[in-house]
Amino acid sequence: MAKRSKNLLKTDPTRTITLRNRAVGEINRRYTKVQRLVTESIVTNKIFSNVRALDQNDFVFLRSPDKLEAFDVWLNSVMNEIILGGNATPNSAQLNWMLQYFKESYTRGVKKTNNNFAGIYGRNQIPNRVDVFSIPYHISKTSLLFTRDFAQLKGITDGVSQQLSFYLSEGLLKGQNPNKIAKTLNERIDVIGKTRSRLLARTEIINIHNLGMVNEGQALGELLGENVYYEWITAEDIKVRDSHISRNNKFHTFERVSQLIGEPNCRCATPAIPESQLPEGAKVIGK
Ligand SMILES: [Zn+2]
Repeated sequence: MAKRSKNLLKTDPTRTITLRNRAVGEINRRYTKVQRLVTESIVTNKIFSNVRALDQNDFVFLRSPDKLEAFDVWLNSVMNEIILGGNATPNSAQLNWMLQYFKESYTRGVKKTNNNFAGIYGRNQIPNRVDVFSIPYHISKTSLLFTRDFAQLKGITDGVSQQLSFYLSEGLLKGQNPNKIAKTLNERIDVIGKTRSRLLARTEIINIHNLGMVNEGQALGELLGENVYYEWITAEDIKVRDSHISRNNKFHTFERVSQLIGEPNCRCATPAIPESQLPEGAKVIGK
């Protein structure tokens, strides 16, 4: 039992697995809600109730393209509400639900570095970051990132809309029955919406956690007048990519580590180490 939990911790250097799982759970719940609405709309909504009567020689949707149009408009409003609700402003009360996980991850990264430094230098030298997102430096460090992440989420929902539009028109053209069309559309929501959103969330929660650690490291380094470096810690299991194995337990400059973090599905962590705390003879890569 003890061995098992130790291994689990080792495979998760950023200690964000619970946060990632919560995000994935919410992604699944939200897209499943969209799927239920799609099924309801296709199978029981009046707009599509005569789909059953279509046959291949009767391109009904061409004569009534407004059916497709109406579905697109409806789907976009559903996505805007369920997936794209809120905004990308880090310190806004209306922050988008997925970005709230990113915000929490960034906060944790900042606090880890902050607490580590406080342990070394004492609280009288290290300001306590009670509310990370009341600090202009951290707001400015996350604004562009959140805007980009929100755009990526929007890109995913656009992909879903395009696919659904295509498969709906195809279903109409082929005279498929509404249950079959709804099933196809829901499969596309699984493949495009859920899968891509989960990859985005998993990757970004770790990336942003590391950015929190790195940005706070830079801020405290400046405050202390000391160089700060970043140790690369991998999960040390078979899933770690070779290029990351070679970085393991090595120290990197801010410039270098900033370039390296954020690869899809990377689980590595990059804790901040003040120069005075580097092990004897440690070499810093990128210096
Ligand atoms: Zn990695």
